[in-house]
Amino acid sequence: MEDEFDLRQYVPEEDARKTFAKVFDKSTIETIHKLATKRYFDIVEFAISTGKEAHVFRAVDTSGNFRAVKIYKTETSDFKHMAQYIEGDRRFKGVKKNKRDIVFTWAKKEFKNLTLLTKAGVRVPMPIAQMDNVVVMEFIGKNGEASPLLKDKDFPDSQKVYDFIVEAFVKMVQKAELVHADLSQYNIINNGDELVIIDCGQSVLTSHPKAEEFFERDVKNMAIYFQKIGIKTDFKALRADIKAKKAEFS
Ligand code: ADP
Ligand code: MN
Repeated sequence: MEDEFDLRQYVPEEDARKTFAKVFDKSTIETIHKLATKRYFDIVEFAISTGKEAHVFRAVDTSGNFRAVKIYKTETSDFKHMAQYIEGDRRFKGVKKNKRDIVFTWAKKEFKNLTLLTKAGVRVPMPIAQMDNVVVMEFIGKNGEASPLLKDKDFPDSQKVYDFIVEAFVKMVQKAELVHADLSQYNIINNGDELVIIDCGQSVLTSHPKAEEFFERDVKNMAIYFQKIGIKTDFKALRADIKAKKAEFS
């Protein structure tokens, strides 16, 4: 495969190529080649984040548009953890259980969730493409620089964060029929003038047998964060606010 095209064409930076080597097997390199051929991006520039299950890169096209390219590791991912969020989601009934299929399904699930959430009016990166273990999405940043996570940079107005999250919870559950299932300040980007929710691979339909448990965990985590930023709330109060807002919308 490597003989057919040169990875340097898509990843010119040596450091980025080294980071690549950690997530890229031959099939992933070919997937990058295919996505580039379809012009979802032209060059993968550097790693924005190197995580346990995925690496996120900044990519760019010839017009200078940035993309975020999230590449799931096909080798070292926590498959048992992933399977829990795939089983029980009726969209993925009958998915094969080998490691590659689980990771590919996970990436597909993230793409579908981003699509559902965008339609429901929840601010998430706009999904652009997905193939095998790769998800291409809108790059969240300013002047090419990835924006910080909420955990690293407080939003100037705490009350706005609270209102945004309450509304996001309601839209997620009511319109997208999804539970994020890993919502916290670690998965919310502070994009300066707005907040953007990311990392939606584990998000499940509200019909998933563990949806309620995941929802309550999200509410708990957000309540703890709100207390940290000086908002008087707790799990029960936040859950009640979400419920009240739900009634308002329906
Ligand atoms: P994981 O936590 O599973 O590694 P995330 O989806 O949370 O994966 O992404 C990891 C990090 O990459 C984020 O914390 C964020 O800093 C960055 N990131 C993810 N998606 C984007 C995006 N669309 N635009 C800019 N940065 C992103
Ligand atoms: Mn994350």
